[in-house]
Amino acid sequence: MKIFKSVSELKGHVFNIQRYSTHDGPGIRTVVFLKGCPLRCFWCQNPESQTLAPVLMFKRERCVACGRCVAACPYHANKIADGTLFLERSLCRACGTCVSCCFSEARSIQGTVMTVEEVMAVVCKDMLIYENSGGGLTVSGGDCEMQPGFTVALLQAAHAEGMNTAVEITGAFPWKTVKRITDHADYILFDLKMIDEKRHKAGTGVSNKLILENAKNLVRENRRIHFRTPLIPGFNDALEDVRAIAGFVKHELGLDPAERLELLAYNNLGEEKYERIDYAGERPRYKRQSDEYLKELKACCAAV
Ligand code: SF4
Ligand code: SF4
Ligand code: SF4
Repeated sequence: MKIFKSVSELKGHVFNIQRYSTHDGPGIRTVVFLKGCPLRCFWCQNPESQTLAPVLMFKRERCVACGRCVAACPYHANKIADGTLFLERSLCRACGTCVSCCFSEARSIQGTVMTVEEVMAVVCKDMLIYENSGGGLTVSGGDCEMQPGFTVALLQAAHAEGMNTAVEITGAFPWKTVKRITDHADYILFDLKMIDEKRHKAGTGVSNKLILENAKNLVRENRRIHFRTPLIPGFNDALEDVRAIAGFVKHELGLDPAERLELLAYNNLGEEKYERIDYAGERPRYKRQSDEYLKELKACCAAV
């Protein structure tokens, strides 16, 4: 009886594959974004990545109410009333039938099931670029820890091709899972969002106990790790919050925050997505921090 799936049978839920990235590990890289995340950060710029299941994205401003999707949908999730198209989310199964019949390109499915070979066929297109830049494959998300078997298979396939590997993780999983994945990564990008546990839970929906423990474990194992803090206005971008994160990196992990902690200014690129997927939570609307304030925060990191 066959118990384990071979690598060629393994399939993962892929959200996006982005080539030529220069921000997600050393050199020029291809980033494979997997679907699924255990956190529910109120500022999330990729809300369509949070669930493993695919999601229909609907750009209402493009819809001309032609009615083609009403006729095409096998689940009767669309209807037109008073010249406007209404999508009933509870009926939609994200089957994708309506996407190809919408000439206005108002619809798309976010999330595809792919095999390791299919993903690697895209990743391997840029082998020369990786060789010349010191780049390779980064597996990100959502949180790639949601699909540990598929993530490990991708990292192993990349190593077999001779490229280096990186993962971007939340660390919000038991150490066994974190270790299973990171053992196959040459470089680890690790998010530190907030040190205060209650406030972390309020902002992300989960405690940071496991996250901070896993950060310590990875440093103890002498892993090549780089911490990142997305700066969210009013949540963690006050001087004392950044000082607490930098203090954790310096005093608990024994690393220099000026070198190993990167502060990421808030970006609002994903705000319109909330309406496009009819997200149940609130839609975040914040302004990016000023360059002067970012300088002040960076100086604060260097001074802890
Ligand atoms: S097919 Fe596209 S343009 Fe036509 S009603 Fe549906 S969403 Fe609107
Ligand atoms: S994705 Fe499928 S179920 Fe959802 S509206 Fe389109 S055709 Fe209907
Ligand atoms: S960890 Fe990232 S993907 Fe997950 S909810 Fe937070 S911002 Fe979104």
